[in-house]
Amino acid sequence: MMKKYSFLLKGVALIFAYILTARLGLSLSAVSGFATLIWLPTGLSFAALFFWGQSFWPCIALGALIANYWTGAPLWVAFMIAIGNTLEAILGVWFFHRFAGMETRLERIRHVTVLVVFVALLSTMVSASIGTTTLDFAGLVKPGQFAETWWSWWIGDVLSNLVIAPLLLVWSRAPRFDKNLGRRIEGIVLTLAVVILCTFVFTSRESDPVAPYIRTHWIFILLIWTTLRFGQHANVLLTMILSSIAIWGTVLGVGPYQEQSLNDNLVLVQIFTAAVALSGLFFGALGREKDEALRMRSDFISIASHELRTPITSLNLSMLVLKSQMKSNDAILNQAMETLERQSSKLSTLTESLLDVTRIESGNLVLGKTDLDLSVFLTEISGHFRELLQQTQCELSLDIAPGIRGNFSPYSIEQVLTNLMMNAMKYGGGRPVAISLKKNGALVTLSVRDHGPGIPAESYEKIFGKFERLQENTNRQGIGLGLYISKLIVEAHHGKISVNSEMGKGSTFIVELPLT
Ligand code: ADP
Repeated sequence: MMKKYSFLLKGVALIFAYILTARLGLSLSAVSGFATLIWLPTGLSFAALFFWGQSFWPCIALGALIANYWTGAPLWVAFMIAIGNTLEAILGVWFFHRFAGMETRLERIRHVTVLVVFVALLSTMVSASIGTTTLDFAGLVKPGQFAETWWSWWIGDVLSNLVIAPLLLVWSRAPRFDKNLGRRIEGIVLTLAVVILCTFVFTSRESDPVAPYIRTHWIFILLIWTTLRFGQHANVLLTMILSSIAIWGTVLGVGPYQEQSLNDNLVLVQIFTAAVALSGLFFGALGREKDEALRMRSDFISIASHELRTPITSLNLSMLVLKSQMKSNDAILNQAMETLERQSSKLSTLTESLLDVTRIESGNLVLGKTDLDLSVFLTEISGHFRELLQQTQCELSLDIAPGIRGNFSPYSIEQVLTNLMMNAMKYGGGRPVAISLKKNGALVTLSVRDHGPGIPAESYEKIFGKFERLQENTNRQGIGLGLYISKLIVEAHHGKISVNSEMGKGSTFIVELPLT
């Protein structure tokens, strides 16, 4: 019962929306009375049949029949136009299902190509051809105006499938709003910039005929930038806004396209909008393909490293058993066991680091912040390095200011300090290491200083990159992820990590974290 009502409701809504949007288009400069350059119903009916199914075609036919009859077309003309419009939508959806898929929302370049070639350019020819021929038979097309009528009809429909259909397809998926304040501000500023620039370009009166054309290029750059940064949702929405402002200005007789008749001006506007829409659609899909590829890579690493944990653990256990059964004077076996232990520990570190990276990069790192006495906590975890410090014959000094409290994730702080300490011991060559903790206004500064070989100034940034290692250290064990992970963690705390170094004298890694 509910299903029946929802079917009816959708049908009635579609008929009304069709009539309303069709009347709007027909009221704006229609060639031969019915061929308009602004024709929202095409994109609307494509989306309706795509989401609700081809069985809704009678609503499109009825909407088109009423809208055209209401605008003054003889009944048979309105009927023929309705056939053309309905066939266009049915064909467009058939093409899209056939070549792009049933569930697609323009996620791939291929989907966009199908939408552009088959839906926007091809299926619309059916409606333009049936419509224009009917108008010609009815004597509504002035001599010599057949081509112009067909062209206007077609452009109106094409643009609708390039602007309205993508808007509905893409926004049928909920957008993901970024939690990062900086990116939110960037998004708002960019959106405002596009809207203000479009309004300025398309509503200003200018005596210089060239300047307004040049300004349109800026819109283009801003829109592409927004698409690359904020994806398809932002792109299709802004293209719609741009298109509306551009049409509004041109109909009012202002903006860059005002040299010729309204119809010719609108053709120019629509060609400009088509160029913007096409680039945006392709760039948007490219961005999604890239995101998808990165996600798949991340998933793969995550699964692989997760699955590797179990065999590594059982390997370690078997090694312990083997070691306990081994005779201590067998030099060859002892050496083999040492190699086994070293390699297995390397494998463990690698899998754990890869897991950390995927967790942090995919935003799945739960910081678990709590009110923490950092001074006590750091003193405590410094003790964990005692055994390693003894092994490397390294001396550790602590300079920890007491009573520094703040909201931190203990797990993350421990991980960062461990990474820095491991490096200090690994690269410090047994020379003393110092940990210091100080409060600097609203910031807390944690530093780890060693007396190792130092880091050249030009590599200060580079060593925090993924898998980045200095050439001179490649003989040491390591995979180049420790500092990268530390940087991600510190940034997740809205802090900063940096290094200062003097060649031959040592390095100081400095972590600055806000106290709140
Ligand atoms: P890994 O130590 O596994 O290579 P890291 O990300 O921890 O990876 O460090 C990246 C690179 O930075 C190291 O390979 C090394 O070349 C350099 N580096 C890090 N810490 C120090 C240090 N304390 N002294 C000298 N070089 C360092």
